[in-house]
Amino acid sequence: MGVLAEGLRELLWPTRCAGCDLPGSLLCDACREAIALVDPTTACERCGAPHGWLVCTECWNSEFPFTDAVSAGLLQAPLSRMVTLHKDSNERRLAEVLAELLAAPVLERGWKPDVVCGVPASKAAIARRGFDHGSALAGALARRLDRPHEQLLTRGRALDQRGLDREQRAVNASDSFQVAAQPLGRDILVVDDVLTTGATLSGAAACLLDAGASRVRTAVVARVW
Ligand SMILES: [Zn+2]
Ligand SMILES: [Zn+2]
Repeated sequence: MGVLAEGLRELLWPTRCAGCDLPGSLLCDACREAIALVDPTTACERCGAPHGWLVCTECWNSEFPFTDAVSAGLLQAPLSRMVTLHKDSNERRLAEVLAELLAAPVLERGWKPDVVCGVPASKAAIARRGFDHGSALAGALARRLDRPHEQLLTRGRALDQRGLDREQRAVNASDSFQVAAQPLGRDILVVDDVLTTGATLSGAAACLLDAGASRVRTAVVARVW
């Protein structure tokens, strides 16, 4: 967007904080402070849960196809609102803000994946929103990490996750991914905005590993807690 167009947009629709609607910036200082960040030094290395670095009650009896996970924060206001505005209100500039939050724990862990890949939304969701928020987030994160971004996955079926119960979601997520580009022998970081049960990320990771990926780690902006 040109400087003039941007100036006009700012005049007509001033940038508002994604947390509290205050005009001025995409994220005001107070809301930035209010985000419940997960401390990567005391989080569970396996599932990204806060305080789980010694014993994790979240994942001790769970199996994941991915080896490691980080979460930038907890799915609470204002982070929850930012995530929703990004994908459902078409505030695409938020991808950069969310990626900045997500880059911090990835860098803290020292991960250097061969490729960063977003969890693709279903075809129905992409059609509804006009863009693939997972890919947008992965692209923004890849630039911050200075790693390549490539969309290695597509969502095979057009089934929307909404309206499905927990079990149906798991089945839908696990068998709906398809490989769109070669993951063979590659160390892949899979990125999503929200972690609820882990079923979607597990489905994406399993698909990549089945197709020969050497390793899959995951990073999510916000996790349910
Ligand atoms: Zn605010
Ligand atoms: Zn855990």
